[in-house]
Amino acid sequence: MRLQRQVVDYALQRKSRLAEVYSGRTGVAEVCDASPYLLRAAKFHGRPSSVRCPICRKEQVTIVSWVFGEKLGQVSGSARTTEEILRLAVSQEEFSVHVVEVCRTCSWNHLVQSYVSGLPPRPRVRRTRRVAGGRMANSSADAATDVGAGGGPEGMGSKGIGTEGMEKYL
Ligand SMILES: [Zn+2]
Repeated sequence: MRLQRQVVDYALQRKSRLAEVYSGRTGVAEVCDASPYLLRAAKFHGRPSSVRCPICRKEQVTIVSWVFGEKLGQVSGSARTTEEILRLAVSQEEFSVHVVEVCRTCSWNHLVQSYVSGLPPRPRVRRTRRVAGGRMANSSADAATDVGAGGGPEGMGSKGIGTEGMEKYL
C-alpha cells in the first residue's frame, strides 16, 4: 500500500503566483494572508523546510498538512503532524491531505501539494454477526474491547479514530 496516492504538485501555480507578485500585478497583502488559524497550525503542527520564504526572505517556510475525509470525523479539516498522518494512513479509510507552506514572519502561504492517503475504501460487505443472547444494547464494556479489531462500520464513532489524547490546539 502506498502512503501517498494521486499526488498533485502545485509548483507551477506557485511559480505563476509569485511571478504575479514580483511583477506587481498582485499585491503582497493578497498572498501574505495566512489566517491566525493557519499560523497557529504552523506553529504547533508544522515542520521546518529548507525553502526560504519567497516574499520576505527572512525565514524558511513551515510546512503544514491538513487532513480531510468523511471518515475522519472531527479530525477532518485539522492540521496534523507527519507522525499523526502516518498513523491515520494505516488506520483510517481514504482521506486527502493538503500540504501548505506558510511563512510565520510575513504570512505568505500557498498550497504546495495534495495527495490521497489511508486504507483503500473497504467494499461494503456487511458481516452479519450473531449477537449472543441479545446483550448488544447495554454492553458498553464489550463494545470497548472491540475497538481496533476491525469491527464493523457501526460502533466506529469517535472511538475508532485512535487519536484520543492527542492535544488539540485548534
Ligand atoms: Zn515571509
